[in-house]
This record gives sequence, structure tokens and C-alpha cells, in this order.
Amino acid sequence: MKMPHNIKTYCPTCQVHTLHEVERVRKRKASELKWGQRRFRRVTSGYGGFPRPKPEGREKPTKRIPLRYRCRTCKKAHQKPCFRAKKFELEE
Ligand SMILES: [Zn+2]
Repeated sequence: MKMPHNIKTYCPTCQVHTLHEVERVRKRKASELKWGQRRFRRVTSGYGGFPRPKPEGREKPTKRIPLRYRCRTCKKAHQKPCFRAKKFELEE
């Protein structure tokens, strides 16, 4: 799907509909200090092998599209429940 770069949507800070800038959220590398990463290191260390088997089967036909909406008025960003799409691009 194609999505416009600027959309008018509800801002939870201003509590009205304002113009928002849409940005794509990328997955960043997990910090070694975060709780989930520390637990992962503890569980996978030592004897016992890797606890999480690799996922088998086909690849999903659609991917999740996480987006961040930044209000043009107050500059605060918020996220909405992400949706799935085969193809996604932001229009200029
Ligand atoms: Zn706002």
C-alpha cells in the first residue's frame, strides 16, 4: 500500500486532530543491559543448548508495518496498533 507522508489524525497530547508526520520504525539492536536480553543470555549460556527452536514452515506473505506519528504542532510522537501489508511505501 501507499501512504501519504503527512496525515491528519488525532493527537493524544493536543486532544484534537492535527497534521502528523509519518515515519517508519526500524527494529534496533537489543541492548545488552535490557531485561529480556539479560534473561536470554542467562538461559542460553552453559550446557543445555539453544532453548528456542528456529521457526519452521513458510514465510508469512505479509509483514508488520510499525509506524510512528509525530504531531506537527507539539512535536510529540505516538504509535498506533500496527497493521500488515505485503508492500508498503511512504509517498512524498
Ligand atoms: Zn500534538
